[in-house]
Amino acid sequence: MRQDFQSILNTIYQELTSLDDKGTVASYIPELAKVDKHHFGIHLRTLDGHSYGVGDFDTRFSIQSISKVLALSQAASLVGNDIFKRVDVEPSGNPFNHLALLEIENGIPRNPLINSGAIVIADILISYLKNPKQDFLNYVRDLVGDDSIDFNLEVAHSEKITGFKNYAAANLLKSFNNLENSVDEVLYFYFHQCSIEMSCRQLTKAFYLFANKGSSLLHKAQLTESMIKRINAIMLTCGFYDEAGEFAFEVGLPGKSGVGGGIVALLPDKFVITTWSPGLNKKGNSQLGMMALEQFTSATKLSIF
Ligand code: GLU
Repeated sequence: MRQDFQSILNTIYQELTSLDDKGTVASYIPELAKVDKHHFGIHLRTLDGHSYGVGDFDTRFSIQSISKVLALSQAASLVGNDIFKRVDVEPSGNPFNHLALLEIENGIPRNPLINSGAIVIADILISYLKNPKQDFLNYVRDLVGDDSIDFNLEVAHSEKITGFKNYAAANLLKSFNNLENSVDEVLYFYFHQCSIEMSCRQLTKAFYLFANKGSSLLHKAQLTESMIKRINAIMLTCGFYDEAGEFAFEVGLPGKSGVGGGIVALLPDKFVITTWSPGLNKKGNSQLGMMALEQFTSATKLSIF
C-alpha cells in the first residue's frame, strides 16, 4: 500500500514548528549567525518519481559540510579508490574540527567528512581539475540540473577570516606531506565549496545518485555501485560529527548534516529526504532536522535496519 508521505510530512512539520526550543544558530562563521532560526523545510523525493515538500523547502541556505559528500563523490569519480590512500574511513566520535584526529596514522585524516579529511579531498580535486572551483560548482549544478546554484561569496569570506582551526588543520596536513597544493589554495577552494547555497528540493536532487546506485536524475552511472556503497557507509558512520551513532540509532539512514542547519538522508532504492532548520543542537546538528527524520523513519518504518 502506498504511504501518504505528504500527510506524514505535514504532521511532523506542525508538531515541530510548535516547539519553543529550536536550537542555536551557528555563529563561529559570523555570516551564518544572520539566518533566522524559524525557517523549517522538508523535501522528499522517492525513486518511483514522486516528490513531496512542506515549509521552506525552496529557500536556499548554506550547505556547509553537506558539500563534503559531493566533493568526495566528484573525487571518487575522478580518482577511484586511490583517495582512500590519503584519507581513512573510520568514524571519529569527535567534533568536526578536532585537530588530534590529524595525527592518527601520520597525517591521514580519520575520514573524508571531518574537516581535515575534506581538506585532503579538496586538495585532490584541485590537483585533478582544470578550473577547480568552477568545475566543482558545475559538477553540483549538473547533478541537480540547475545552473542557478552558486557560491555565497560573503559566507566564503566570513569563513576565511575566522577559519583558524581549518588553517591549523591544513598546515598540519601539509607538514605530513598530505597536501599537494598550497594551504591557501586548498582552503580557498574548501571555503567556497562549503559556501554553496541550495534548497532542500535541490539537495534532494543532488543526492539522488546515492539512492539510485550511482545514476543521477539526469545522467546514468556517475559512480560505480561499489563506490556508492562505500560513500553511503561513510555517511552512515561519519556523517553527523560526534552524533553519528545517535543518528544511526534514532534514524537509521546514511546522511550528512551541515552547520547551516541542513541534513540530507537517503534509503537506497527508495528515497532521498532533506530537512533544513538553522537551529543546531549541542553536537552541531540541526535540532528540528534530527527530530523530523527520527519521526519520519518511525512513522514510515523505512530505514536501512
Ligand atoms: N565550513 C565549515 C567549517 O569548516 C563546515 C562545518 C560544518 O558544516 O560542519 O568550519
